[in-house]
Amino acid sequence: MRALEDLIALLTRLPGIGRKSALRVAYYVLKSDGSFADALADRIRALKSQVVFCSVCGSYTETDPCPVCSSPGRDRSLICAVEQPQDVVTIEASREYRGLYHVLGGLISPLDGVGPENLRLPALMARIRAGDVTEIVVATNPTIEGDTTALYLKRLVEPTGVTVTRLATGIPVGGDLEYADRLTLARSFRGRTRL
Ligand SMILES: [Zn+2]
Repeated sequence: MRALEDLIALLTRLPGIGRKSALRVAYYVLKSDGSFADALADRIRALKSQVVFCSVCGSYTETDPCPVCSSPGRDRSLICAVEQPQDVVTIEASREYRGLYHVLGGLISPLDGVGPENLRLPALMARIRAGDVTEIVVATNPTIEGDTTALYLKRLVEPTGVTVTRLATGIPVGGDLEYADRLTLARSFRGRTRL
């Protein structure tokens, strides 16, 4: 069945979905009534058309600038630098952080051909030059790439007089920000150290 195979081929491109899972999803869609398939297709299309990148911080948003960037209640002296947009969602869920964000869009990884020029660093420097910022909190994962990126940020930012700190203990070495629980993240923010 061509249609089934086409859907399976597409589904297996999703992270964490192997052929077996793809088959289960495809048969579920086939078995369910038409409105489910329509709703699923509609929601996927809506996600791509309604969610955009915030032009200031680079996180996912339905309004530009995003609610964090446009909130008068946020501490504008603090910018938390994260690897990817979903890290903002993780940190927001911890309710521990009241500053702003900056999505780097990746981590420096020479082996993967990712250099500083591939990150959203000019945009970060422009925000720093604009004034209010006194501290950049680097919240990259404690991996070689995360460490390299944090040190690069320190060298880049410190000449401007802005302090660069890093999330402290709590996130396990080699661990992932995405999987850190709320309490761990809260502790990491409070215990952040100067780089
Ligand atoms: Zn924003």
